[in-house]
Order: sequence, then C-alpha cells, then structure tokens
Amino acid sequence: MSGRELITLADVLAARARIAGIAMRTPLVPSPFMTRKAGREFLLKLEIAQPIGAFKIRGAANAVARLPAEAKGVACCSTGNHGRGVAYAAQKRGIPAVVCMSSLVPQAKVEGIRALGADVRIVGRSQDDAQTECTRLCAEDGFIEVPPFDHADVIAGQGTIGLEILEDRPDVASLLVPLSGGGLAAGVALAAKAIRPDIRVIGISMDRGAAMAASLVAGRPVEVEEVPSLADSLGGGIGLDNRYTFDLCRELIDEMVLVNEAEIYRAMQVLYFEDRFVAEGASVVGLAAVLSGKLSLPEGPTASIVTGRNLDMPTFTKIISGEDVMLGDVLMEGTLYGA
Ligand SMILES: *Cc1c(COP(=O)(O)O)cnc(C)c1O
Repeated sequence: MSGRELITLADVLAARARIAGIAMRTPLVPSPFMTRKAGREFLLKLEIAQPIGAFKIRGAANAVARLPAEAKGVACCSTGNHGRGVAYAAQKRGIPAVVCMSSLVPQAKVEGIRALGADVRIVGRSQDDAQTECTRLCAEDGFIEVPPFDHADVIAGQGTIGLEILEDRPDVASLLVPLSGGGLAAGVALAAKAIRPDIRVIGISMDRGAAMAASLVAGRPVEVEEVPSLADSLGGGIGLDNRYTFDLCRELIDEMVLVNEAEIYRAMQVLYFEDRFVAEGASVVGLAAVLSGKLSLPEGPTASIVTGRNLDMPTFTKIISGEDVMLGDVLMEGTLYGA
C-alpha cells in the first residue's frame, strides 16, 4: 500500500479543526518584486507568523491532540523547529514534553525549547544517544514519541497549509515547497492535489546534503553526508526505514530543484530588502529557485511557503550587510544587496 492511501484529504480537514486555536491561519500575501521577477503573480505563505516562528506547530499540534488519554507525555529528539512545535503544543494541551538532545547542541537552542515549557534532557554526545533515551522514555515511562516528519498525523497537520492556500486563492497553479524529510511537501501536495489535481508541486532543497532529493533519484531512501548550509532546517536524513514521506513525495512532487548557498544568501537578502521579512535560509529556497532561473513556472499564480524565522541573528545580520559568513569551517563570500 502506498503512503497516499493511508492519509487522505479527510485527515487534513480533521487536522485543521484539531489545531485551530493553537496554530494560526497564516496570511498569503503578494510579493510585487518576485511577481516582476517571475513574470507571474507570486504569493508568499507566511508561516513565519506562527507562534513558534515555523509551520511545524501544525503537525506537532495535530499529533499531540491525537495522543491517547493514557499517554504520560510526549517525547521527541528534534533540536530545531519540530522540538519547538512539540513543546508548544504539549504546553497548550497541559501534558509533559521531553526533548532529548546530545551535549553538543548549542545552549541557545536548549534555552529556546526550555522556554516553551519542555523538559530538555541532555544525553550523551550524539543524536543516537538522544534517540536511545527517547526510545527508553517511550518503552518504560509511558511517553509517546512524535517524530518530525514520517508520521501520519504530522503529515496531515502540515497539509493544512495546502487547504488554506487554495481557499484564499483557488487559482494558484504551482506551489513551491521547501523539502527536507518531506512531511511538509507530502501533506501540502496530498491536500492540494485532492482539491486541484492539476496543481504543480515543486520541491526545493539545497544542492548539498539533501537526503530526500538523493533518495528520489536513487529510487529508495538513502543516506547523505550532512553539510553545513544556510538552509540548516533542511538538513538531516529521511530514515532508511521511511514509512510515509518517501512514497508520498515520489508520487506527488512534480519537480525537484536544488539551489546553492549563494542563491540562498541572495534570496534571504531579497525577502528582507524587497518584502521586508526576516526568514531562515530554508524558507527562501522557493524564491532562490525562481531567481536562479533554474525553474520555469507554469502560467498562473505561484505560492511559495515561507516556512520559518528561527535563524541565528548574528549570521542574518551579516547576510543583510553583505558580509562573509562561515558555513562550518568554510568561508562563504558575501555580496552587498543591490551592488
Ligand atoms: C522542517 C522544516 C522544513 C522542511 O520540512 P520537512 O517536512 O522536513 O520536509 C522547511 N523549513 C523549515 C523552517 C523547517 O523547520
């Protein structure tokens, strides 16, 4: 059975009712600059307006709402936006959340998740150690793990973005979706295509370290080496035992585009200086794909999902100032916007 038969539009509609009051219904706004560049109407779906600053609140809120009454709490080991979403949703429902991390996670991320009321448990020195503790909490202490993308309730929750876009603008012809584990792309594509089978869904990742892109090319889930990127929220694997998102992405994504770090840097400047929004590198890959000329869009309006704003501010300040930035231990040369 394919992933698509397991999750339907009805699940996405049910998710929408469940997450109302926790996740926001976000605005879909025109970008005049990108409209000029793309030669067709270009719209931005502003998930940066979510309470935790990213769309992952949707999937997390749906999954947390669906936990059985006997669950002692919710556990995960994401240090990024998923961890924030789970912490926030659990606090709203009034149940404990434990986020397991390794001792290598930067203190700022630990504080961010703690501030949302979660118990942060530091275990070992690797993500594997953190996962082991998470699995133990679930086996011995009655917690239930909510993973970041490969989970039916998470996918259905992210799919609510597709419903909102088509409600606001039933004429949208293509969707630009940042792609990592594929929970977002799978959910949005399955909801949008159930309503408008001819809508075009374009998945966009960075050109190095994109596990779903490599897996789609290989025809099965594969591992890739993780590389530091301005689109850090798009890093990480899809799981060799992937259950849902690989099949769904293979079936529902019409086209993949890969953008490089200079293109992401530029698109962050464009969104800031032209539209005056602050967003993560992962959020602007749709703009980067269009600005790079790597993507030819069909006729009709395009909506690009601006997925989150949880970025490292010192790095962002450098980008808008046109300064060089460090990607891991590699220096990336900056360019002043408009120069
Ligand atoms: C998680 C995330 C994505 C990618 O979502 P997937 O469901 O993993 O494909 C994109 N942008 C941001 C800001 C994210 O946090």
